[in-house]
Amino acid sequence: MEPIFPDRLTLAHLPTPIERLERLSDYLEGPDLFIKRDDQTGLALGGNKARKLEFLCAGALAQNCDHIITCGSTQSNHCRQTAAAAAHLGLGCSLVLSGDRPEILGGNTLVDQMLGADLYWTGRRSAEDVMQEIGKSLNSKGHKPYLIPMGGSNPLGAVGYVWAMKELADQLMGQDLNPDLIVFASSSGGTQAGVVLGKKLYHVPGQILGISNDQPAEILEHQVAVLTAETAALLGLNHMNLADEVKVDDSYLGKGYGIVSELEREAVHLLARLEGILLDPVYTGKAMGGVIQQIRQGRWQRGQQILFWHTGGTPALFAYGDDLL
Ligand SMILES: *Cc1c(COP(=O)(O)O)cnc(C)c1O
Repeated sequence: MEPIFPDRLTLAHLPTPIERLERLSDYLEGPDLFIKRDDQTGLALGGNKARKLEFLCAGALAQNCDHIITCGSTQSNHCRQTAAAAAHLGLGCSLVLSGDRPEILGGNTLVDQMLGADLYWTGRRSAEDVMQEIGKSLNSKGHKPYLIPMGGSNPLGAVGYVWAMKELADQLMGQDLNPDLIVFASSSGGTQAGVVLGKKLYHVPGQILGISNDQPAEILEHQVAVLTAETAALLGLNHMNLADEVKVDDSYLGKGYGIVSELEREAVHLLARLEGILLDPVYTGKAMGGVIQQIRQGRWQRGQQILFWHTGGTPALFAYGDDLL
């Protein structure tokens, strides 16, 4: 069945390249490692949210909205890229960030401000409540706000990664690659839902694995499975049950979301020093740390191919200096 894609804006730099990680592969003496550079999607320093925003922002424009409201953690990459998309399109942008305003606005929050977004802090309230309140206030002033959920992970956002899998399928064919594993950081689930659905549609080889950044595997797997089904329905593909294809590994959570341990530190340093590639401390550092650990445990061997999907997040490096050095 052919999917029927909703409207899409061109916001990201696509296709992102796939590169071979030759020195890292040699160092680990295991499988051949490759990296898909979605840290280079543009939209104010790159990341996976750019692909989701191509569809989400098209949705906002179709509804004649003039303001985008979304939410995330303090160092949210999603919020930063949403602010960039809004600026580019001439829309207002309100970001609801969790917790209290930090003393120094660095990393993503520096960029958020530079892009002209209005920043709100939840304190002890739920992000949902604060977003609703901002929405009401904008409405009363004659604006038309468009609400994007955390991480842009609704069916329309997830479509961005279905679209990405078409791009990936072409590249794998063109570069004669046949990955045994496609692995990436998974958090609000939109990326994984799109990847799982796109794998099926475009016959992409390899096992798909999301490495959890904050949630237990069972909970995230369920969330991704539901979102996969909803995304299929949005594309006009009914009766697709891909729940069994959704695999999440939560072995690398350590002390929790955004807390840097030796696992992330080593991965960030190895990629920087062996490949000249920057990972981030929260998402891709953990995911790559997990891959490195699996290789050392002998789960993947020489002759196999692993594709690591770099989902971005590098601006957070500038807010985590003390934890990384
Ligand atoms: C948001 C994000 C993820 C997780 O993507 P989801 O679609 O929310 O699962 C992974 N890596 C980075 C850098 C992100 O910003």
